[in-house]
Amino acid sequence: MIYPIVKYGNPVLERPAQPITAFDKDLHRLVADMFESMYAAHGVGLAAPQIGISKRVAVIDVTFKEDPEAKVVLVNPEIIHKEGKATQNEGCLSIPEFREPVSRPKQVTVRAQDLNGEWFERTGEDLLARAFVHETDHLNGRLYIYHLSALKRDLIKRKIKKLVKAGEW
Ligand SMILES: [Zn+2]
Repeated sequence: MIYPIVKYGNPVLERPAQPITAFDKDLHRLVADMFESMYAAHGVGLAAPQIGISKRVAVIDVTFKEDPEAKVVLVNPEIIHKEGKATQNEGCLSIPEFREPVSRPKQVTVRAQDLNGEWFERTGEDLLARAFVHETDHLNGRLYIYHLSALKRDLIKRKIKKLVKAGEW
């Protein structure tokens, strides 16, 4: 099932999500739905709060369907190592139309559980590293615009307010 993407302004996006404790059929279904919803929205990463579900699970596919092996499921992830620095334009399905340069670590190691509850560690570089931190941030109630200068963030917030008023958000 394809869920609509929750947009900035909904408090679920700025609230820490709850840990996953049951690695059951419902979780498998949720993850399948999240991949489907992410692809439908043309994204390369999606965290459960972005479909209104405050749980610590995220899906990533930086190849966008090109390589089935590239699909990553992160359950209860935490970033355990960061290295280097890279600045690239970053966007978020929950803040559509906006993209801003954001400085992120170039290399990131994440520790997470898989669909069966097994812990694993995975190191990613560049876009994958960016996805690891962006999605883990989501599960902690943090959006990428909080990594921008206050000035830039306020500008985006003002533009969004206008869009909300116009009924276009
Ligand atoms: Zn996002």
